[in-house]
Amino acid sequence: MQYEAVIGLEIHAQLLTDSKMFCGCSTRFGAEPNTQTCPICIGMPGVLPVMNRKALEFTIRTGLAVNCRISSYSRFARKNYFYPDLPKGYQISQYEMPICEHGFIEVIVDGEKKRIGITRVHMEEDAGKNIHEGSGGHSFVDLNRAGVPLMEIVSEPDIRSPKEASEYMKKLRSILRYLGVCDGNMEQGSLRCDANVSIRPAGSNGFGIKVEMKNMNSFRFVEKALEYEIKRQINILNDGGRIIQETRLWDSSTGTTQSMRTKEEAHDYRYFPEPDLVPIMADETWIKEIKEALPELPDIKRERFVSEYGLPEYDADLLTSEKSIADWFEDAVRAGGSPKSVSNWIMVELMRFLNEDNRSIEECSLKPAQLVNMLALIDNGTISGKIAKTVFEEMYKTGKDAEEIIREKGLIQISDEGAIQKAIDEIITKNPKEVERFKAGEEKLIGFFVGQVMKATKGKANPQLVNDILKRKLSI
Ligand code: ADP
Ligand code: ZN
Ligand code: MG
Repeated sequence: MQYEAVIGLEIHAQLLTDSKMFCGCSTRFGAEPNTQTCPICIGMPGVLPVMNRKALEFTIRTGLAVNCRISSYSRFARKNYFYPDLPKGYQISQYEMPICEHGFIEVIVDGEKKRIGITRVHMEEDAGKNIHEGSGGHSFVDLNRAGVPLMEIVSEPDIRSPKEASEYMKKLRSILRYLGVCDGNMEQGSLRCDANVSIRPAGSNGFGIKVEMKNMNSFRFVEKALEYEIKRQINILNDGGRIIQETRLWDSSTGTTQSMRTKEEAHDYRYFPEPDLVPIMADETWIKEIKEALPELPDIKRERFVSEYGLPEYDADLLTSEKSIADWFEDAVRAGGSPKSVSNWIMVELMRFLNEDNRSIEECSLKPAQLVNMLALIDNGTISGKIAKTVFEEMYKTGKDAEEIIREKGLIQISDEGAIQKAIDEIITKNPKEVERFKAGEEKLIGFFVGQVMKATKGKANPQLVNDILKRKLSI
């Protein structure tokens, strides 16, 4: 039997507000435990929550960006469960009346565009954090995170492969970062994913029993966990067993999932409307204002980069994955750089250095105009494309201009024909066998000669001249 996977993701995104969802406490990450708390977020009796307007605005902004309908009337609900990190004994969330519904985003998988439905985007508050390790047999609770504003973004079960799931997540993260509503930091937990997966006979329409997986804090882990889980489910069915609905935890050290608990049903949570908060009636004109202020989003930007700058889809996709990279690119083009050259330098060299240093483009001292200056020095023959890589690396590390580096390191390209001829003559005398083979028709040996000349001139010879002179000399 051939099976296909059915996947739906529930993504929790921490909103970039300064204060919590229902009180004025700070949301800053990394503070001393329990220093960012008050009677409201630690769940004292008799207190009243007040909704954070910014959190609502950010959620509406997100809903609009992912093509949702914004509800004119929406409510909070209590989701009841008991756990030490949840001081009130319930989480304030949204249930029957979420603020945003019926959206979608598009992802590209293996060159194919695919639309993935978004069921809802709703607001809720985060819980605190239990600390068991390194506490001498005791468990501690840190409530700094309790009450921090979250958005939950629920997808339709439209995803069909682990790869599609991670592409969906990447696209969503990119959108959230463009919108400035979430920093997307998966290691610190500001973007978390629960993945639901079931399998069914390929081509059928029904849904199988799903398993929910938690604890995957990178795109790679989401993919790996799904791959593992799909195999596990197929094996069970092939052995004549049946899948049970449960929540499983991904363990990255073993690359497997372990059962955590059998999944609760909605009625286990005894949801009911939150009586301490008024319903939300988002004003039409306000929603319109938020919509008009939306930035250009990654899909539109990608298409524009293709049509306006003539870039290949691949380049456009990579450059627009982060708004800051797209802005850097456009600044360089505006400063006179040719789009494709600028794109190559960003994608190949700059991205490599940034990845190695785990740095963002904003934290990089190299400015777009400096790259453009360097490109002009390649064009006018001052440096070769090869030397430019050394210059670029130095520019990246020091923030100095190309001219300065070229001067300091003596990297100016040798375009003096006499000097190049001299080097070539020496190499021809030293390698008579290769010369003979070349003349006998082994034309690919030209690469060997070019390499030798470059070595002799420490890479500074003008490659075009080297090629021309070599061909002239060797064909005599
Ligand atoms: P629950 O009530 O368990 O939270 P929901 O219906 O709210 O389930 O769906 C939660 C997530 O699981 C959604 O992202 C949805 O797309 C996905 N999902 C629902 N049914 C299935 C299924 N049979 N297989 C895979 N994913 C599913
Ligand atoms: Zn508080
Ligand atoms: Mg649900």
